[in-house]
Amino acid sequence: MTTYNATQIEEKWQKLWKDQDSYRSEANSSKTKYYVLEMFPYPSGKLHMGHMRVYSIGDVLARFLRMRDYNVIHPMGWDAFGLPAENAAIENNVNPAHWTARNIEHMKRQQNRLGVSYDWHREINTSSPDYYRWSQWLFLLMYRRGLAYKKKSAVNWCGTCATVLANEQVEKGLCWRCSSLVETRELEQWFLRITGYAERLLYDLDQLSGWPERVKLMQQNWIGRSEGAEIAFKVKEFPEEEIRTFTTRPDTLFGVTYMVVAPEHPLVKPLVTGTEQEEEVLDFVSRVRQETEIERTAEEAPKVGLFTGRHAVNPINGEEVPILVGNYVLMAYGTGAVMGVPAHDHRDLEFAHKYKLPIRVVIQPEDQAELPKETMTEAYVGEGRMVNSGSFNGLKNTAGIKKVTEHLEQQGKGNFRVTYRLRDWLISRQRYWGTPIPIIYCEKCGAVPVPEPELPVELPREVELFGDRVPSLAHYPDFVNVDCPDCGGKAHRETDTMDTFICSSWYFLRFTSPNCDQAPFNAADVDYWMPVDQYIGGIEHAVLHLLYARFFTKVLYDAGMIKVNEPFNRLLAQGMVYKDGAKMSKSKGNVVTPDDIVEQYGADTGRLFILFASPPEKDLDWNEQGVEGCHRFLRRVWRLVTEYADESSIVKSKNDQGENETELRRNLHAAIKKVTTDIEERFNFNTAISAIMELVNAIYAYRQATGKENYNYEVLQETLEKAVILLAPFAPHIAEESWEILGGRGSVHRQHWPQYDLKMLEVDQVEVVIQVNGKVRGRITVPTDSSEEQLIKEARANARIGELLDGKEIAKVITVPGKLVNIVAR
Ligand SMILES: [Zn+2]
Ligand SMILES: [Zn+2]
Repeated sequence: MTTYNATQIEEKWQKLWKDQDSYRSEANSSKTKYYVLEMFPYPSGKLHMGHMRVYSIGDVLARFLRMRDYNVIHPMGWDAFGLPAENAAIENNVNPAHWTARNIEHMKRQQNRLGVSYDWHREINTSSPDYYRWSQWLFLLMYRRGLAYKKKSAVNWCGTCATVLANEQVEKGLCWRCSSLVETRELEQWFLRITGYAERLLYDLDQLSGWPERVKLMQQNWIGRSEGAEIAFKVKEFPEEEIRTFTTRPDTLFGVTYMVVAPEHPLVKPLVTGTEQEEEVLDFVSRVRQETEIERTAEEAPKVGLFTGRHAVNPINGEEVPILVGNYVLMAYGTGAVMGVPAHDHRDLEFAHKYKLPIRVVIQPEDQAELPKETMTEAYVGEGRMVNSGSFNGLKNTAGIKKVTEHLEQQGKGNFRVTYRLRDWLISRQRYWGTPIPIIYCEKCGAVPVPEPELPVELPREVELFGDRVPSLAHYPDFVNVDCPDCGGKAHRETDTMDTFICSSWYFLRFTSPNCDQAPFNAADVDYWMPVDQYIGGIEHAVLHLLYARFFTKVLYDAGMIKVNEPFNRLLAQGMVYKDGAKMSKSKGNVVTPDDIVEQYGADTGRLFILFASPPEKDLDWNEQGVEGCHRFLRRVWRLVTEYADESSIVKSKNDQGENETELRRNLHAAIKKVTTDIEERFNFNTAISAIMELVNAIYAYRQATGKENYNYEVLQETLEKAVILLAPFAPHIAEESWEILGGRGSVHRQHWPQYDLKMLEVDQVEVVIQVNGKVRGRITVPTDSSEEQLIKEARANARIGELLDGKEIAKVITVPGKLVNIVAR
């Protein structure tokens, strides 16, 4: 027997898999396809434990499903554009492209060292012109379909990253990447009209039964649909002007006692011109506009309002109410004006108290004393009957929502409306290392798309590095100055690049035909492979990447380019990897890397531990004893297989099947059943692995019970072979080596997954004597392997014994397995 040498075994098989091109996938309509995809990484240059976890999960599925006779596609690639490459370029004085290429090479080696079964023929790199050519092509498709547009607006600006950010990339007022405070700036930027798909992005969540509920909920909240009425208030002093406001509570319209407009509202200036409030208001406006959206809308931020000297006319009753300018109202959301209903809105009540504005109750809860007005300390936001509401009095407010809206509609003063919280996706980035936006500006012709045959618009290859950042594309005259594709006159290129989230919004489609040079992807291939059957990645992408990818998919579906309108059938959001209860970090000194593990124990041990320590969607705590335990188990497997190989060359008896053989077969079939359903139905890889461990124990027990002269060679060989097959998705190298030792044909990873026979699982029964407080009280028949708990349950179910135990507490149970149970009861 040789000792288990993981490095030797792993290197041997990794080389062989590569030489034999073992994991290549081809479209093949005779088999059912299965698309397993892990979110592709950013090539930072280092694989961390989070990566190792997500790849291990994906690889178990890919290997398992191949053995279940699926045609599995399992590709990998690189989300290669982005800021860290620029930062590294400055730090190390190296071209971002070279830095990226070097990292990719290194990380790919690390991935292969884990034994992940990727089809490398499908590798893609989003920063390669072959790829970003098609990102540009898709941008132009969006442009032609009216989904890409440029507009000047207040945008999120991160000074540290020196670029704008999408709303999805601002977390609690901070940049998602560097945690700097985000400012607001007025800039002309490119947007994608994702709001045009808000409704479908929301309703189609219902199709995604294989997605975690919490991810769907996060998307639902982000899209933020609300129903209500848009209502027009005339300005008393300027009857030709109106202020439009959106409310979800038109039933409270009679309760409006003031109106607040955003400082950015275009009417502010004309309203205050010539009033005594003019100077004060304009001063306030310019001060507020320097604050960020987040500062202004924070829960604890003081709500400040200034009277404009003008009045709005309530369209439902002609009442005149003061118009104020308020810091907490934003132009970017809704209409930039809100009606104040202090009796029925918490924020409005607080505001009314502060500025001594009137309070009017218009919804009265049923079976309750009349609500106070001026002394009100809490707004009433519940249901009730409409009061102080003219002809609507007595109506239930829920019905009133519809009735008031209808009334306004008939009068041309308002209409039913649905609004969304979702904003359009800002995609311009003022950075070098990204996909250039393929637009040319001509003085005569305006914005002109770069003609398709001229794609890709390539990044300048020679990068000048200076200062603390890589200069943006505006710095390269050869890039900027071009002839207009329409009139041939002098023109200049757009110098912004695209948000890297565009690259990852369609990469799963490119994997189906990575070398296609006529289109972003080949139609037949994309139809065969899509959708992704199982997607695996982090929860941090719940509203970023996952929303954007759904949006792109829907646009391409509408353009007739693909036949699916949702990209990811099932989604698994894996948990985090911790060490000693904390996130791994350099400063805490608790970092374990995949390289460390591979070097010390081998990839199989690392994979096995990661999958065994916790179910995939739960957080995982890295602990050394656990790793040791998994390593010991693999050594046990190794010993079993190698010892058996030695023995079987001597003893090849074919003894009869007795009890020991029946027991071994029963264990085998129980393990097959458990491993199969745990992987397939529940992704409970941890319990699947313990079932394999139990099977290995059972094989040891069999060997001990029979002795090698009496092995039933056939039964033992079959059990060992199948145990090795069950282990193969989790620990692919040792399984492959064991398979070879056992004399198996071909690769273990190309074997059919074993079937289980339910009949084999039927267990033997045994009669057990039951004593209560030392006296024999009866006998029961139970399965041989019943646990103590089951025995007590069965004992209680026996009429006579149940009666004796009734109302008593069981103090102690003494069991002689298969023979006797003594229950001590008081
Ligand atoms: Zn930043
Ligand atoms: Zn022109």
